[in-house]
Amino acid sequence: MHIRRPSRINLRQLILLLAVFSAAVMLAGGMAGAYQVQRQQLMANTLEANEAFATKLARTTSDMLLRAQANLAYSADLLARSGMAPAVAQAETERLRHQELGFNAVAVTNVLGVVQAASPMGLGLRGRKVDPDRWRNLANERLPAISPPFVTVLGNLAITLSHPLFDGEERLLGHLAATVYLQAEGGLQRLIGEQYFRDGTYVYVVDARGRLLYHPQVERIGSDVANNPVIDAVLKGRSGQMRQVNSRGVDMLAGYAYVAAADWGIVVQRPVELALRELSDLMMRVLWLTIWPALVLLVLLWLLSRWISRPLGELSQIVQDGYEDSTARRITVVNCWYLEAQRLRRALLAGYGRVRIQMGELHSAAHTDPLTRLGNRRGLDIALKTLEAQARPFAVVALDIDFFKRVNDQYGHDMGDRVIVGLADLMRVQARQGDGLFRQGGEEFLWVLPQIDLAEAMRVAERLRAAMENARLLGDAVITLSAGVAVWDGGDVESTLKAADQALYRAKQGGRNRVESSEA
Ligand code: GH3
Ligand code: MG
Ligand code: MG
Repeated sequence: MHIRRPSRINLRQLILLLAVFSAAVMLAGGMAGAYQVQRQQLMANTLEANEAFATKLARTTSDMLLRAQANLAYSADLLARSGMAPAVAQAETERLRHQELGFNAVAVTNVLGVVQAASPMGLGLRGRKVDPDRWRNLANERLPAISPPFVTVLGNLAITLSHPLFDGEERLLGHLAATVYLQAEGGLQRLIGEQYFRDGTYVYVVDARGRLLYHPQVERIGSDVANNPVIDAVLKGRSGQMRQVNSRGVDMLAGYAYVAAADWGIVVQRPVELALRELSDLMMRVLWLTIWPALVLLVLLWLLSRWISRPLGELSQIVQDGYEDSTARRITVVNCWYLEAQRLRRALLAGYGRVRIQMGELHSAAHTDPLTRLGNRRGLDIALKTLEAQARPFAVVALDIDFFKRVNDQYGHDMGDRVIVGLADLMRVQARQGDGLFRQGGEEFLWVLPQIDLAEAMRVAERLRAAMENARLLGDAVITLSAGVAVWDGGDVESTLKAADQALYRAKQGGRNRVESSEA
């Protein structure tokens, strides 16, 4: 029969391991779920906020443009009525430029595109001609207009708001034109650039052809950004929101709104990564807050695991300690508060009942040596089978009285018997509860000691040897014994007995009155 190596892990550790593992899995699952939900929510909120902001900016931009155009219309009316008087033209350009409308330059041109009056005067625009390309666009413009971005004669990227000037017969006299520089301090820069974004959100404005009118990176202003789904959508006059990867490969959450007054689009966007950075912080906070209840839970689990494992631990300890008279009582008092432990307790009690019966049988006449009242050979067989079946480790001590023939010869057979009985009594005195004592025949004995290792068995045998030597069972005569000790290793019981006999043989060979171990 084989004894499996004892497991390194116990029930309590298993319970804790399971609990910690399931708690960790649940926490991870919960965090992952919360992360997903929060992520969706955060992206939806960001898109919503960006659209709302784009819409607000579009309205403000519209208001600004309409106010600027109303001011131009007012001045244009004054100018036309004055018959394009130079003094009036100069005064109106100055007035318009100083009116907080964000105009960088204001000029009055005649039908040929020659500047009649301009502010600021220092630019020296007066008398110069509007460049031919721009002029072609403006010459026949009979309605207020907003130009696409162009480079002014002074080299500034700009847009122009223009208003036609008519005489009394609706003949075109020229234009009143107000210029806003796109890359310098001016209308759009002031309107949008002053908005304070600290979370990576930014705004850009495109004109009807998809060119940038405003962008926080000033050098990009004027460049073509068409072929972008957000810009396509906004220039079709729509407002809305969209997640898209921009021209530079950045995943963006964009809100957009259309500025009808100028046919422009305004886009407010934020990189997804920046929007989600908040989420990582949030999750770290959640984790941090979860750790404390988790620690409390761990302590509770620690106590609970003890409570669950305790009855099983106590029962197994009783089994480990081996059969004693107190075993049944010890089993009875274990607090088995749940079903499995109760069943186990019941099974153990029944099992020990059987052991007791078997032990009882050992004492019956059939298994008892009549001279010494120790077990006989049959009794030994039963005891060994029981131990083997229970897989309980044990040691055996084989004993043989030295020169016993001489005892018989010198003192007679009856005296010999007295020595045999005397040794049996010595063995009984020294045996522990649960040990088995057997007379194998003649003056040969076997002592079975459950739950004991070789060294301990050696000490026990040595104690008996010394006791025998000092016992003086026959007056002054010193009668000694030799002993061989072996432990059962889970293999064949017969070979253990043989090992003990061989050790006994060595003790005889070595001069008698000594104890030898099978592992000498
Ligand atoms: P050793 O030290 O080698 O053991 O020498 P020994 O004389 O003891 O030799 P052995 O063990 O072979 O001798 C056993 C003797 O014990 C043989 C027999 O005369 C005697 N004997 C056997 N059974 C009994 C018994 O029931 N009563 C008595 N008085 N003597 C017995
Ligand atoms: Mg002998
Ligand atoms: Mg013998």
